[in-house]
Amino acid sequence: MTTPAAKPLEPSPRVLLGPGPSNVHPRVLSALGMPLVGHLDPEFVSLMDEMQGMLRQVFRTENPLTLAVSGTGSAGMEAVVVNVIEPGDKMLVCVNGVFGGRMVDVAQRAGAEVTAIERPWGEVFDPQEVEDAIKKVGPKLVGIVHAETSTGAHQPVQEIARIAHDHGAMIAIDTVTSLAGVPVEIDAWDIDAVYSGTQKCLSCPPGLAPVSFGPRAIEAIKNRKSKVQSWYLDMTMIGRYWGSDRFYHHTAPINMNFALREALALVLEEGLDARFARHALNARALATGLKAMGIDYVTAEGHRLPQLNCVSIPEGVDDLAVRKRLLHDWNVEIGGGLGDLKGRAWRIGLMGYGSRRESVTLVLAALETCLRDSGVSIEPGAALAAAAEVYAEATTATASA
Ligand code: PLP
Repeated sequence: MTTPAAKPLEPSPRVLLGPGPSNVHPRVLSALGMPLVGHLDPEFVSLMDEMQGMLRQVFRTENPLTLAVSGTGSAGMEAVVVNVIEPGDKMLVCVNGVFGGRMVDVAQRAGAEVTAIERPWGEVFDPQEVEDAIKKVGPKLVGIVHAETSTGAHQPVQEIARIAHDHGAMIAIDTVTSLAGVPVEIDAWDIDAVYSGTQKCLSCPPGLAPVSFGPRAIEAIKNRKSKVQSWYLDMTMIGRYWGSDRFYHHTAPINMNFALREALALVLEEGLDARFARHALNARALATGLKAMGIDYVTAEGHRLPQLNCVSIPEGVDDLAVRKRLLHDWNVEIGGGLGDLKGRAWRIGLMGYGSRRESVTLVLAALETCLRDSGVSIEPGAALAAAAEVYAEATTATASA
């Protein structure tokens, strides 16, 4: 039997409008194809320094221990938990979707005594209920997801951080979906540990996890009685690799770091505030267009992420059939619901490079066709007209400012 000759790889040019990964800017893609240098080459070493500075700007922090862990967002989650937590420590985790649930699992595996408090999916936590739980549990660490990708919920964390500190606890936040899409203020909010991922609003392929540890977390790591359970994610060792020692720890994925460097440069060239405003505008246009088609949000009003729009699937519409058709006929990927929302919700991502007027127009037009073909009564063109009005108003407001 002969094996067929392998053909060149030709992935379809998808428009990624789901929960991540998002589309990548051409400059980031070309960084992936740049010539390799060694991971201790002076050029790579200075690139690591440059990236640390850029990550501090994006996280809005002065924390020295700020770097990109080799691994996806889950590696960032694990790095935070296993370094701050020792077996037997108490951790309180706020769960209102898939990723809070994952944090519980990670913390339990790290030997923490975990207490989870829950909120219905799509809702956010009220600081008072977190305070009540902190008083009862007396945790060393409170873990909470800032942008819950499974529901599109935008959790305010500043007040919860203050409460945690008032009761002698630290706070760790998940910013995998929030970073570079909505404000993340590590120093102003006094956050002790944070992790993110590269494939959402940073618009870089998946593969690295930006993290940052503040003074309380560093102190806790220094005072550990036990070794960090994970050799690979031991932040003291990784910190020595990224720090002035350049102590060999592992072979960093060179080209992923090139890509993240370029993605961070794009974020900083645009400016964080301008980037947040762009995400907000495109989300407003999408929401207005969806409303014109009679589509509602799952996420509570006032707590919706502009980069992750979690909406109810209209009655009688086949979730999978629509998503398959979007992919097949328009090359558009949107996400289905997870967990409690499976079959009931779509997740439309407008993240980073993908948060553009073209994305909004394409997804609204494609969805309108699919829904009309599924028998939903929609006035043709109403969604696009409604979205266009939002852009026109924004242009007028900018012109007269
Ligand atoms: N946390 C949140 C909020 C996420 O959205 C994700 C991934 O979508 C993760 C953690 C895990 O990241 P990864 O899939 O990159 O490991």
